[in-house]
Amino acid sequence: MSKTTRLHLPSRRHRDGGQVLHIDFDSFFASVEQQDNPVLRNKPLGVTATNGRTCIIASSREAKKLGIKTGSRTYEAFQICPDLKLVSANFVKYFDVSKKFLKICQNFSPDVELFSIDEVFMDVTLTNHLFNGPYKMVNKIKKEIQEKIGEYITVSIGISHNKLLAKLASGINKPDGIFEITKNNLEAVYSRSELTDVCGIGNRIKLRLNKIGIYTLIQLRNAPINILKQEFGDFEGHFLKNIGLGIDSDSLSSFTSSPDVKSVGRNYCLPKNEYNKTVILQNIYELCEEVGIKLRRVNKKARTVGIFLGGSARIKGRKTYSYFFSSGKEVFDACSPLFNLNETSYVRQIGIWAGNLEDVQNTPLSLFDSVKKNSLQKTVDEINERFGDHTIRNGFLLYADKLTTVPNGYMADKYERTKLALENTNYSP
Ligand SMILES: [Mg+2]
Repeated sequence: MSKTTRLHLPSRRHRDGGQVLHIDFDSFFASVEQQDNPVLRNKPLGVTATNGRTCIIASSREAKKLGIKTGSRTYEAFQICPDLKLVSANFVKYFDVSKKFLKICQNFSPDVELFSIDEVFMDVTLTNHLFNGPYKMVNKIKKEIQEKIGEYITVSIGISHNKLLAKLASGINKPDGIFEITKNNLEAVYSRSELTDVCGIGNRIKLRLNKIGIYTLIQLRNAPINILKQEFGDFEGHFLKNIGLGIDSDSLSSFTSSPDVKSVGRNYCLPKNEYNKTVILQNIYELCEEVGIKLRRVNKKARTVGIFLGGSARIKGRKTYSYFFSSGKEVFDACSPLFNLNETSYVRQIGIWAGNLEDVQNTPLSLFDSVKKNSLQKTVDEINERFGDHTIRNGFLLYADKLTTVPNGYMADKYERTKLALENTNYSP
């Protein structure tokens, strides 16, 4: 394909034949902590979950070298390394770094797909010539990350003609690496990679492949399609055969094109088994407020709510109404018929969600809507937006502990992605 033909193609249409980058932060959470606190640099460090220090959710590259991995128990880690330092995860901080990173990426291409909190795909087919080719571009991206985020932060970048191979490539020279997979070196790369190095083959699929005599990527490439279809069915059979051939026609879903939010929700795990009914109600109310905030931020109203209470009993319910709502109190009122706290002696987990969403401009004004109520809500939202959620709260919550808003599930949460998309829609290439 000539360069001129490429330029006339819309960038989101063609994949296999373009130029795709996969950028992956090295030891993301730990490096951000080490960047923040120089005392922790060059030392084995474990990042633990916010509520409890029993499990390591991320480790620094120094800790990884010793064999301290994600999921290690802290007592096991201390047996390996008695000097190990621990810090609690701070997702607000990681989310901020991630946002800065996205801003940097946008200087190089408008087509950026968030894959996880520390990974993106970028289609640079139409822009890499502006930087004198992908290698110069990739080095410039690395430099900007160190200048704008921190000198301790490094990324590994894979270059290839599709997402599948770009992702495989980024793992090859970790940390701080660059690797390109081309049609010419694909065979060599495949011969020294494991089946599970490829995104799309997990342990479960690996075992099933082993069962039909396939132990390597090269064997997968050469496997007759019928054998794969027999074991995995038509769809997955083709999918795996394509992996073997290094073919991936999956297109990037750019984060600036807002995904359609189908529901918003929030789960919260109380710090202890909670027996006090007022405290339980306050927490439910507060989560309803959060769901309301999420709805209003994406300019939607809901007419279905769901609640989950986990504890001495499991209470689960959902209800659809004929009218739409988006305030915390309305969400709470809609949830109220769904639970009876007398059915449970204690509660540990609370989940609230709202579904059946509609754009506000498409919803009929409710009888109870008034201009005054709406403008009050708008003012409260503006203050909460500036000073953090729950700065202004219902009087019922006056003495309740403030929840810490954690972007839970980050990229899995379409609400977060949409928020980000809305923040970035002013982008012009
Ligand atoms: Mg990473």
